Amino acid sequence: MFDFLDLESELTDEERLIRDTAREFVDDRIRPDIGDHFENGTFPTELIPEMGEMGFYAPNLEGYGSPNVSETAYGLLMRELEACDSGLRSMASVQGALVMYPIHTYGSETQKEAWLPKLGNGEAVGCFGLTEPEHGSNPSAMETRAEADGDGYVLHGSKTWITNSPIADVAIVWARDTSAEDDPVRGFLVETDRDGVTTNKINDKLSLRASITGEIGLNDVYVPGENVLPGVSGMKGPLSCLTQARFGIAWGAVGAARDCFEEARQYAKDRDQFGGPIGRFQLQQRKLAEMGTQITLAQLLVSRLTELKERGELRPQHVSMAKRNNVRMARNQSRVAREMLGGNGITTDYSPMRHMANLETVYTYEGTHDIHTLVLGEEFTGIPAYE
Ligand code: FAD
Repeated sequence: MFDFLDLESELTDEERLIRDTAREFVDDRIRPDIGDHFENGTFPTELIPEMGEMGFYAPNLEGYGSPNVSETAYGLLMRELEACDSGLRSMASVQGALVMYPIHTYGSETQKEAWLPKLGNGEAVGCFGLTEPEHGSNPSAMETRAEADGDGYVLHGSKTWITNSPIADVAIVWARDTSAEDDPVRGFLVETDRDGVTTNKINDKLSLRASITGEIGLNDVYVPGENVLPGVSGMKGPLSCLTQARFGIAWGAVGAARDCFEEARQYAKDRDQFGGPIGRFQLQQRKLAEMGTQITLAQLLVSRLTELKERGELRPQHVSMAKRNNVRMARNQSRVAREMLGGNGITTDYSPMRHMANLETVYTYEGTHDIHTLVLGEEFTGIPAYE
C-alpha cells in the first residue's frame, strides 16, 4: 500500500496489527458491497456489532472495555475505514468520538457504566445532535431548550443532519439549559424511545449515501436529571468532541485519497489507448506524481498531529489546519483520479467518484472548510472574523 516515505516502518506491532485487521475487514466484508450500499442509500447495519468486537469504536479510550490503543493506531483505523468509504468512517467516528468520548470525559460513573461497554461493542448505537435547521456553522445560536421540571428536564427543539439518528438507541443532545444563569449549553443523554422523540431519515442525499442520516425531533421530551452530562457546561462540551472527531477525519481523508490513487495507478497500467497503457503518457504521470505527493504531505501532517496529541499538546487550531487541508486535498485528488478512469470513472464499479461525492459532505461537516479557514485566520492575526 502506498507509503512513499516509509512512515509505517515506525509503527509498533500493535499498530500494524490494528491497521492490517481493519484493512482486511473492510476488504473482505464491506468493500465488495459498498457500491451497492452507496447506490441504495443503505449502511451494513448487521456489521455494527462485529465492528464493535473488532474494536472500531473509540479504542483509544481507557477503561469500560476499551483497549486504550495509541492515537496512531486510532488514526490508522480511521484511515483504513475511510479508504473503503467515508460513510463507514463516519459511523465509527460518531459512535466513538462524538458519543463515547463525551460520556467518557464528562459523564457520571452511572452513565459510563450504563453506556460505554454497549456502545463499544456495538450492542447500542449513538448519535450526536448539535446542528439545527437554522444553525449549522454557528451552533452557539441553537434554539433547542431544556427546561427544569421536577427532578429532570423537558427538552424541546429539533436537530438535523444527524449521522445515525434513525438507527440510534441514544442521542447526545446539546441544548440550552434555561434553569441556569445565561442559559448554558449542556449535554443530555436522550434515549430515542422516549415519548416525544422522532428520528426521521433524510433521503435524497447525493453524498455519503452509505451512511444513515436523519433528524431528531424533540417535542417536550422528559429526561431525568441523571441524564445530564455533569462534567461540562458551555460550548466547550460539543466543541471538544468535535476536535476528537476532526482528528479522525484528517486521518480518514488520507485513506479516501489513497484509495483513489491506488485505483488510478492500477488503471493507468491496465488501460491501453494508442497502442499501450495510458500510464506511459506524461500527462497521466503528472497527475499521479501530484496525487502521490499531496497524499504523502497530508500523511506527514496527521503523523505530526498525532505526536502532539500523544504529548497532550494538540490544540483545536492544529486540528483545524489538518481537517481543512487533508479534506480539501482528498476532494481535489478524488476528482483527478476520476478523470484518469475516463468513462468507467463515473460508475460505482470504481471508487473515485463515490469518494468524490462523499468528500463533499466531509468538506462541509464538522466545521466547513470556510469555518476552519476563519479559525486559522484568527489564530494567525488574533482577530476573529466570525461576527
Ligand atoms: P451553513 O452554516 O448554513 O453554511 C452555508 C455556507 O456558508 C457554507 O459554505 C459555510 O462555509 C458558509 N458560512 C457560514 N458561516 C460563514 C462565515 N462566518 N464566513 C464565511 N462563510 C460562512 N451535525 C451534527 O450535529 N451531527 C451529525 O452527526 C452531523 N452529521 C452530518 C452528516 C451529513 C451527511 C451532513 C451533510 C451534515 C452533518 N452534520 C451533522 C451537520 C454539519 O455539521 C453542518 O452541515 C455544517 O456544520 C454546516 O452547517 P450548514 O449545513 O447549516 O451550513
